[in-house]
Amino acid sequence: MKQNYEEKFITNIENTNYASLSTGHQVFFKTIAFQYQFSFQELKQLIDFTIDFKMWNEKDIVEIFKNEYANRKMAFNHIRDVWNELKSKPNTYDTFDKSSYSDKRKITFEKIEKETLSLGACPVASPNTRCCNLMTLDSVESCGFDCSYCSIQSFYNQNKVAFDVNFAQKLKNLKLDPNETYHIGTGQSSDSLMWGNKEGILDALFDFARSNPNVILEFKTKSNNISYFLENEVPSNIICTWSLNTPVIIENEEHLTAKLHQRIGAARKLADKGVLVGFHFHPIVQYENYLEDYKEVYETLINTFDSKEVVLVSMGTLTFIKPVIQKLRSRDFKSKILQMSFVDANGKASYDLKAKKEMFKSAYDSFKAWHKDVY
Ligand code: SF4
Repeated sequence: MKQNYEEKFITNIENTNYASLSTGHQVFFKTIAFQYQFSFQELKQLIDFTIDFKMWNEKDIVEIFKNEYANRKMAFNHIRDVWNELKSKPNTYDTFDKSSYSDKRKITFEKIEKETLSLGACPVASPNTRCCNLMTLDSVESCGFDCSYCSIQSFYNQNKVAFDVNFAQKLKNLKLDPNETYHIGTGQSSDSLMWGNKEGILDALFDFARSNPNVILEFKTKSNNISYFLENEVPSNIICTWSLNTPVIIENEEHLTAKLHQRIGAARKLADKGVLVGFHFHPIVQYENYLEDYKEVYETLINTFDSKEVVLVSMGTLTFIKPVIQKLRSRDFKSKILQMSFVDANGKASYDLKAKKEMFKSAYDSFKAWHKDVY
């Protein structure tokens, strides 16, 4: 039997982000859907546009939608054009302030017994990516920071942080080939340092590094929680790296993390102790005057560290898989991280090649003074 529009609306709306809309927007959508009889695909997109306008702190759909359009197509095309226009202009965070973010999560800690040690190839490795052969070791599941672009949001329950009670024992039992050199990082499923030595994770990892000198063990962080490193002798095969960004991105997209000067200050302290440090610029994010802002950070590093103290500098940019975009749209917060003109890059949404060349060339050229010494 043929469904009428109301029946179709009720069936199809469940497969959209309608439930994430405010009550006011839901009423608005019902009204315009019945007035213009939008197709399911059009409705789905219009709802996503509405969420995006709100997340980007731009004009509300109710203000943008005209009182009258000649037909359904013109109504849809108008809203899609506004959305595309907003994505193609350079971002600014001028309309963001402290009220743009509030931490609504209530983090609880959980002790779990995992069957095996989570050690494997970096999940980004694929035939289509240039690989650095990093292996990842999950010592903690989930993170207490709240970076808008974070992909682990879609893997773990963000309110529950899980520690494996047998982590130390499993690490002790791990058999590695003594003739191989391994680069293992712990900053994939959580921040490496934010939890300190909770549940003895740093004791276990330091012991592991001492017993396996053929492992380069990397702690990657956005925190300045280095007290364990200052209070203990650090094995020489441990390296500590900071994921850095510009103050604009830290303030607006890397919520709850340490500020730029705190991260650099912590790195300086560990370098003073003789620990090799490194820096990741990942993701480099485009916004108005972003190249100048990033250059300032690069210069600060060059002026603060001797190249001999720095083991690596890496760079990367935004890539989004669909579940992360979906997760972002289900949250009630402000972010500009999806307000970009993305293209498809190996099944993920990312900047086009021209934009990538511009950001990576600028970063690479800025570190010219370190090219000979730093990986
Ligand atoms: S610090 Fe890393 S793991 Fe934690 S929220 Fe940010 S991107 Fe995700």
